[in-house]
Amino acid sequence: MISLSVIVCSIVQLASSASCPQSIPTVSVVPRCPSNEKEWISAAKRKNCSALENCQTCSKDRSFVYHCVLNKNATELVEVCAPIWYMSGFCARFSMTDRRIINDDPALDCTKFVPPCLTRFPSNESFKYQMCYRHIKFSTASQSEKGEHTTFVMTVIIAVLVILVILVISLLIFIRINWKKNNNSIKPRCEKIAENVYELDELIIESKDDSKEIEKISLDTTRKDVVEEVANFVTMSGKNILCSLKNVVTIRDLREKLSEKESVPLKCLLVVDKENGVLYQDATVFEPCKKERYTLMVGNTNRTQGFKEDGNVHTDVISNKQISHGKCQMCCGHFTVPETLFDWVKDKLPGSGDVELQCPRCSDVWEEEELVKKCNMSEDEKLFLNCVLEVNEKTKKMKQ
Ligand SMILES: [Zn+2]
Repeated sequence: MISLSVIVCSIVQLASSASCPQSIPTVSVVPRCPSNEKEWISAAKRKNCSALENCQTCSKDRSFVYHCVLNKNATELVEVCAPIWYMSGFCARFSMTDRRIINDDPALDCTKFVPPCLTRFPSNESFKYQMCYRHIKFSTASQSEKGEHTTFVMTVIIAVLVILVILVISLLIFIRINWKKNNNSIKPRCEKIAENVYELDELIIESKDDSKEIEKISLDTTRKDVVEEVANFVTMSGKNILCSLKNVVTIRDLREKLSEKESVPLKCLLVVDKENGVLYQDATVFEPCKKERYTLMVGNTNRTQGFKEDGNVHTDVISNKQISHGKCQMCCGHFTVPETLFDWVKDKLPGSGDVELQCPRCSDVWEEEELVKKCNMSEDEKLFLNCVLEVNEKTKKMKQ
């Protein structure tokens, strides 16, 4: 009875073992096969082999169903619609040449795998025997490993490039700093001297609490060691004045030297920066290397000259002092003294951004022309006031 059923079964297999040309157009290579029943059902639905059931002649019992199996050489996985084939303990493969599922590779004896397959199972249940796809999985895995490897190599290359860029930038910064250092060491002597003097000045200021004697000695020795050059200075009106820079440390020192040399009262010899329209303060350190920044302004030694005396006593609108002579009357009617007015102009206009002054009492405006006239300005002073007002005008426009 048993042998009879086996014979019948074999006849059925033989009948259906005929090649199935309708399978061929349905073959597609896939990266992986379903790994469980759920995935298998869903993949089968997608493949929709049942749509071809009626136009195929391979299987009379309509078993033209979804398969995901190895190809003939077991190098790839293929999805294919094919008649069910009963496997006798070997991994299922689909042969394009035989146009059917094949079953005979001793190397793919899955009864010897762990876990083993049944000695007889239908080809469309191959998902139960994942060990059959093992080596394909490995090759896909190795492909993704390859991808990972490429990504890794790219990352390394980018990292190396970034490090190189950082190194180059650091090198450039290093070279620049070194260059600056070298540049500093080849600065002209006078510049270095100026720096030294500056540093020493700072030290002296720091040590203000110490005895004045020490201060004086250190200042004197530095001055002696420092500058012994003669420099040419130009006044606002273009006159050249040669002056020794010996012992000149601050602007005050320079003014003292010049006033002595030119026999001009100290208050009438000022040092200005005509480009920026500012007056140098006495405490400012004189920088011998930047001589071109210093312009001399020789002032009027007798400002009151030319104003009429009326003998009356008035209040100075700027200083609030009572003044009886040497006074001048402003356009608004208020009185002041030319010297006081000039000091006020010096104090208020340079670097202020204003282009005129206001009377402190009546807020009438005193313009350039009036200031020049009432201060009894020298040629140098007129020119400098002009520079100041030009600079202030620019500043004002920029602010607007
Ligand atoms: Zn006034």
